[in-house]
Amino acid sequence: MQWIRAAVFPPKCVICGAEAVLLCHNCRRWEDYRGEKALPYIEELQVAVAYNDTAKAVVEHLKYYGMQQMRGVILPQIEGVFKNKKTVIVPIPLHWTRQLWRGFNQSLVLSEVIAETTHMPIQHLLQRKKRTKQQAKLSRKLRRKNLENAFCMRKNGDIPSSVTIVDDVCATGETLISAAKTLKEAGVKEVRAIVFARPNLLDTAARSD
Ligand SMILES: [Zn+2]
Repeated sequence: MQWIRAAVFPPKCVICGAEAVLLCHNCRRWEDYRGEKALPYIEELQVAVAYNDTAKAVVEHLKYYGMQQMRGVILPQIEGVFKNKKTVIVPIPLHWTRQLWRGFNQSLVLSEVIAETTHMPIQHLLQRKKRTKQQAKLSRKLRRKNLENAFCMRKNGDIPSSVTIVDDVCATGETLISAAKTLKEAGVKEVRAIVFARPNLLDTAARSD
């Protein structure tokens, strides 16, 4: 479907609509991430870009255009921060009901691109245990509760000693923390995470004022 879409609708900038490119020179305003470099249960958090208007538009359009079109925009940013040597890539799964509804898992497509580029294997170690409520609608305290025990291990082979979990956007980090906790409890020694975009701490503070 995506190649048909690309053939029928030539690329347009996802922000300003300029013809011929998915992200034009003027709208390409990547900012460096300046936040935390680790989270509970996660030795190292690698963030490609700070979550700003450019990152937001790119993530939203990932679903519409698909990774084949968006990879030229996304991959150079991710390659810059991915420095794991020997690791197994673990996508954050969606609950099957949500996947059915969305038909698309951003974490999985990002994982596939990273795996292809780095030649690291993907292993689907995690499974959603219960359907979590949408995080945005909950307070921070309820968010944590909502995600506690959200994941369990899928029974599929050996437990690797080092894994890298992948997600598109990370706000509070609760999803990654919950996933990492499950992996550690199952015997994974080292958990790293790579996300495409995360708000800078300064921005988060400014927003809650
Ligand atoms: Zn533009």
